[in-house]
Amino acid sequence: MSYDDDRGGYGGRGGGRGGSGGYGGPRESHPAICSDCGKECEVPFKPSEGRPVYCRDCFPKHKKF
Ligand SMILES: [Zn+2]
Repeated sequence: MSYDDDRGGYGGRGGGRGGSGGYGGPRESHPAICSDCGKECEVPFKPSEGRPVYCRDCFPKHKKF
């Protein structure tokens, strides 16, 4: 009788901590081209057509909308 076996590794794969970000929910990123500098970048939202997308560098410049 050893059901000891079954629960053997305490803390084996237990840690449900960590992950990424405290925002709750997976972070998606979508490839896009910055409308300002033309650099490839990734944005956390889905770029929609006709809307400019900016990279991290340029985003602050255009933030005031
Ligand atoms: Zn840019």
